[in-house]
Amino acid sequence: MKKIIYKGKSSASSRALLELENIKKDYHLGNSKDVVHALKGINLSFRKNEFVSILGPSGCGKTTLLNIIGGLDKYSSGDLFIGGKSTKNFTDRDWDIYRNHHIGFIFQSYNLIPHQTILGNVELALTISGVTKKERIKRAKSALDKVGLKGMYKKHPNQLSGGQCQRVAIARALVNEPDILLADEPTGALDTTTSTQIMDLIKEISKERLVIMVTHNPDIANTYSTRIINLLDGLVVNDSNPIDYKKEKQNILFEQRNEQAKMNFVTAFRLSLRNLLSKFKRTLLVCIAGSIGVVGVSTVLAVSSGIHHYIDSMQDDLLSGNPITITETAFDINSFINSANTRQKVEIVVEDGKIGVNSIVKSMIERSESMNSYSISNEITEDYIEFVKQMNPEYYAAISLDYGIDVSNSIYTDWKYSGDGASETMSISAITKMYSSVIENTDFADYSSYISQLSSAFSQAPNNQDYILSQYDLLKGNIATKEDEIMVVVSKNRQLNDVLLAQLGYYTQKQFINIIYEAKNSDLYDENQSKYFFDYDEILNKAMTWYPNDTIFVKNNGLLAEANPYNYKAYKDDSFENGINLKIVGILQAKDDISYGCLSAGFYYTEALTKKIIEQNIDSEIVNYYKEKNVDTVNSGAYTIPLSGQVVPSGISYKYYFIDKDIRHEDITGYVGNESMLSSFFNMISSYFGGSSNQGTETSSTNTKFYSISLRQLGGNDIANSISIFPTNFASKSDVTAYLDKWNDENEVIEVNNKSLDFSKRSKVTYTDNLEVIIKMINTMIDIVTYALIVFTALSLLVSTVMIGVITYVSVVERVKEIGVIRSLGGRKKDVSHLFNAETFIIGLTSGMLGILITIVISIIINIVVGRLANIKTVALVEFGDATIMILVSIILTLISGLVPAKAAANKNPVDALRSE
Ligand code: ADP
Ligand code: MG
Repeated sequence: MKKIIYKGKSSASSRALLELENIKKDYHLGNSKDVVHALKGINLSFRKNEFVSILGPSGCGKTTLLNIIGGLDKYSSGDLFIGGKSTKNFTDRDWDIYRNHHIGFIFQSYNLIPHQTILGNVELALTISGVTKKERIKRAKSALDKVGLKGMYKKHPNQLSGGQCQRVAIARALVNEPDILLADEPTGALDTTTSTQIMDLIKEISKERLVIMVTHNPDIANTYSTRIINLLDGLVVNDSNPIDYKKEKQNILFEQRNEQAKMNFVTAFRLSLRNLLSKFKRTLLVCIAGSIGVVGVSTVLAVSSGIHHYIDSMQDDLLSGNPITITETAFDINSFINSANTRQKVEIVVEDGKIGVNSIVKSMIERSESMNSYSISNEITEDYIEFVKQMNPEYYAAISLDYGIDVSNSIYTDWKYSGDGASETMSISAITKMYSSVIENTDFADYSSYISQLSSAFSQAPNNQDYILSQYDLLKGNIATKEDEIMVVVSKNRQLNDVLLAQLGYYTQKQFINIIYEAKNSDLYDENQSKYFFDYDEILNKAMTWYPNDTIFVKNNGLLAEANPYNYKAYKDDSFENGINLKIVGILQAKDDISYGCLSAGFYYTEALTKKIIEQNIDSEIVNYYKEKNVDTVNSGAYTIPLSGQVVPSGISYKYYFIDKDIRHEDITGYVGNESMLSSFFNMISSYFGGSSNQGTETSSTNTKFYSISLRQLGGNDIANSISIFPTNFASKSDVTAYLDKWNDENEVIEVNNKSLDFSKRSKVTYTDNLEVIIKMINTMIDIVTYALIVFTALSLLVSTVMIGVITYVSVVERVKEIGVIRSLGGRKKDVSHLFNAETFIIGLTSGMLGILITIVISIIINIVVGRLANIKTVALVEFGDATIMILVSIILTLISGLVPAKAAANKNPVDALRSE
């Protein structure tokens, strides 16, 4: 036997196991004036082993005395000595240990916890002491066996009779083998027979320990106890067997226990879980309600990250349609956006009674100046092109150099007037211009510009077969690789547009005009002329020929050579030579998962052809003429004839007919043009003076047109004016831009063409990365919307949190008795708050997980619905990280909401808690 260590100091005056010295207890009612003096100065000491009955009428202070002895209630003044130690300076912790190890309580109303089995109820005292589960069950069962409840462990308190309940309470009080058993009217609620049984049990127990029993029944006191103390009105009026210190030597030592009263969080967790499960329906409802906020926020997050992922997945795809480009002039969108964000408006204060002047002129000039400052002009030199070509080939799939060549002037194809009529071999540009001119001369003149506005049907494909094949399927034939090979790219729904097909001579004139009739619901629409489908072979078998400048541009040696130095041959004639016969070798279509490939619908020639064109044309007659004159273009526009002072249009002259022998112009409804089909030179001259109008790059004079053509369009410049770089994938795009940035870095010395260029020898070149700008903008927009929605839905999270707080509070009120029992068994305040925190933790966790589960279900539904409507696979994506954070947020918020109620529960006075009935 060792001394138990309490903080209190040993006192010489203490000589018994328990000694009360002038104990007083006052209860202060609502206002401090009303004081109930429940105990008025009690002096008592108890032996280590006796059966004491405290007898007295109702309201005399018996329960108060017992609670003070048991450490459940605090005395107002005096001192209580436990094992020789004063308790004046006892901490909560000391009292808890005292109750847990040395005291067993039995109450009149049993105070069993209804949602626990009787085994669970008995175990509770051991649980609080931190005894292992195995040991707990063993000891609890043996305690129940001792009180005669063998085999009833799994029963709940409401399945037992009063006597049986009291037996459970006794088993619970004894399971910790306390030194002192305190019983407050243990038989008060029992019938006589049962009372006798219970009293026999208590008598048996009193053989080994101190039993203090409160009763108002003198018979019971006389029959069972060894000592009777009479209490009246808060004072001891008689003690049948007080300690005589002269005769009796007292053992005042308690048995040392090694465990400390302590319940771990796992136990609290299990107890709470059992409590929640006993109210399953309500718990479920609380969790569903709690999950609503989580569902709101995490659905927003899911949609947001789904769209971000979608954009990410589109990046490679988008990239192929938006290569990094370097052009001679570019718009600096980044600094434009930045300046738009930082621009400040100066507020002008207008004095009272006056009207201010707002200078529109000033603001317009400022605007145009600032817009100019965003326009970049790049000098693309041979050195720069070489620098670009020296880039690590792993970074890019293809680099396309654009020389500004317009092949539509040099490619000629067959064009039929009507289905069975004669045909002409014309240049693509001539067919285009002719069609717009045909329409100009009909009722549909308004639409003529649509046709000329459509860009050239031909472009150069990036020089990387594998890259193209990674995005496109071959519907027929092969990929174009050689200079005389052309490929056709059709749209995703396997179509080519009508104007493009018309430009390339796939329609007869009749068929094309019929398309307009059809679109305008004209009576002239002829069903037999309509053509909606082409066989692959029809597309592939089209013959096209490219001719060099020297074949198609003929020096004008006649009149007005100054104004119109060259005549362009829109029609092929016998003099045509040195052509390259182009073969259409394949038809391509973008793969299913590609939305924006590197090629849009149209006709594509190879880099080899570009090289060939430059090689053939760079030294052509017309190009040399331009170089001699030192001009980039022969401007169309006004030219004043020196002698007559007359003004004539100038440019390269160019003739075509749009009406033939088969379809006469009368066939074209609404034809209002000049009937003269003459193309004679004199007629043309006469028309010069007929007041022809200037239409931008093209000046019209009946069937002869004058237009300008630039040196680059003619293939007269072998230094590219535009570079497109197709990065291998989105990730390597940053490698490409990092490489390009070196050119503008003053610390870099660049080695090209056997020269080393330091910064002073280079002029800054700004590339355009449209995709970056687009994606940045989209992402910013999504983020803004996401934040706004999160703030909005977070309100529901807040509401559900408050609600969980309220419910926890209600639960505290409901479980007051349980709190009292736990405290009377030595449970710490902390244990009680653990219990409630565990409960809110479980609710938070369940709500969070339920919320995520519901969000996943909602996401699946959204994805199915949106997937049907738009061809997007995942719109909503619940990310693991987001889900974890949301569950944590749910737990933290509910824990916070439960903190106040849990604290309130812990601070509940155990006596009040037990008295509440
Ligand atoms: P008994 O158990 O002998 O019937 P109690 O010890 O319960 O008596 O009560 C003694 C006196 O103290 C009574 O007058 C009772 O009303 C009063 N009392 C007990 N507890 C409180 C309390 N929490 N607040 C105010 N008065 C109390
Ligand atoms: Mg009482």
